[in-house]
Amino acid sequence: MSQKKFYITTAIAYPNWKPHMGHALEIIIADTLARMHRMSWKEVEFQTGTDEHGIKNRRTAQKEWKDILEFLDENVSAFQDMYKKLKVSYNTFLRTSDKDRHYPGVQKIRKKMADKWDIYKQSYNGLYCAGCESFKTEKDLVNGKCIDHPNQKIEKVEEENYFFKLSKYKDQVIDLIKNEKYKIFPEIRKNEMLTFLENSRDVSFSRPKSSSPWGITVPDDENHVIYVWCDALSNYLTGQWYGLNENWKNTRPADLHIVWKDIQRFHAAFWPAMLLSADIDVPKELLAHGFLTLNSNKMWKSTGNTIDPMEAIEKYGRDPLVFNLLYDVPSDWDWDFSMSRLNNVYNSMLIGSRWNLVNRVTKLSEKFWITNGKLWKNENWFKDFNMNTINDFLKNHDTKWYLEKRYHLVQKANEYITKEEPWTKYKDDSAKAEAVECLEFLLYIVKNLTVLSAPILVESFEKIKNILWTDILNWLTTDTNGSFEVREKAFNTTDFNVNIQSEIIYPRIEE
Ligand SMILES: [Zn+2]
Repeated sequence: MSQKKFYITTAIAYPNWKPHMGHALEIIIADTLARMHRMSWKEVEFQTGTDEHGIKNRRTAQKEWKDILEFLDENVSAFQDMYKKLKVSYNTFLRTSDKDRHYPGVQKIRKKMADKWDIYKQSYNGLYCAGCESFKTEKDLVNGKCIDHPNQKIEKVEEENYFFKLSKYKDQVIDLIKNEKYKIFPEIRKNEMLTFLENSRDVSFSRPKSSSPWGITVPDDENHVIYVWCDALSNYLTGQWYGLNENWKNTRPADLHIVWKDIQRFHAAFWPAMLLSADIDVPKELLAHGFLTLNSNKMWKSTGNTIDPMEAIEKYGRDPLVFNLLYDVPSDWDWDFSMSRLNNVYNSMLIGSRWNLVNRVTKLSEKFWITNGKLWKNENWFKDFNMNTINDFLKNHDTKWYLEKRYHLVQKANEYITKEEPWTKYKDDSAKAEAVECLEFLLYIVKNLTVLSAPILVESFEKIKNILWTDILNWLTTDTNGSFEVREKAFNTTDFNVNIQSEIIYPRIEE
């Protein structure tokens, strides 16, 4: 990989059920950013996967009378099916149950930390939530229950555990975050993490095999398994072959980890400390997004308050769901998802504005016999929004901002046609040339809006490029790395062909 590499990950999903809309949100954010970075001259390595060990998966499998791996295979396939429907362009999918690829690297990083005397054994008395798979303090609980799992019993646990000396590294991690050497988005999460670190204690790093047998055995101690932090977080190394060969070095430091805000502390505090202990570069950035709610309540399998993303994809298609989530969900807070809002976004924004523009412009081209030639360029229209501004946008990972800019241009173009009335001018011999120029300019706008939305509206990009065919557009893709020149040329070209047998990209759909 060149120095322009970009290593981006989602958190690994916990597959004890089928994916819900929150999983769709995270993978959509990651996929869009991966595609944007490919547009902006980077060699992207995009990794995702599943976090498969732990007591919760084992208990659910037992409840369903299934072998643990059979149970996991089914759920992991459900995740992979959804990613396929969403056209997620990941390069690597890592399962933590992968003994060949994942286990050696986990044992290696743990050994490196142990060699530094950063791991010690101690007996431990604590309150444990199996839902979170983590220990709680009295002040984490409300009425003696976990906030996220009010229906689960808090277990009193007394056991011998290994601990990781977070205390030894916490000042260094605080400095990294304060100085933005490890940058946390959004700002509100950064402040939360600094407070958390100030008050943090050492981290439980193992569980006795007797109470949690499904996991990776601690090297040199048959009675313990490696606890979730060391096991799951290490996927960001083992997915790149850490412990097996030297390839992992090509993707260090990691550029961007994308996680739900409820696991940000493991990524913002534990993970950089573990990496410091193991003498590995810490990541550059962490993006912690909010939850999707349904009727203002968190989506939970246990309460049945969920919505199946596959249903939304079947009904509206991939692009409308992607557009809806990226346009609506704020970067720093939770968002209430609803199918009626999706319907509204689809009908008013995608059909009413975007498809309306493409349709009007191509239909007029047919009428005016403008089917190929040169486009009329006016760079002014794209002065705040072009291939270079993508780089500015990527500094903040703000897809909402990007889509708002783009949507504003679609509206402006629609207003422009209405005001110019090229269809009236075309009937008047003295204004005919002006009407043709106006259309050639509109075709140019449609082409560039199409190029700029290629990383987001992936499916309709493929369709529009069949209508507004140009050699160079045909080569453009954000699915894979490479062909950077194509992206610049696609934006700047003025050659075109209009293929009039156009299909309807967005048919009307009843709510
Ligand atoms: Zn809990």
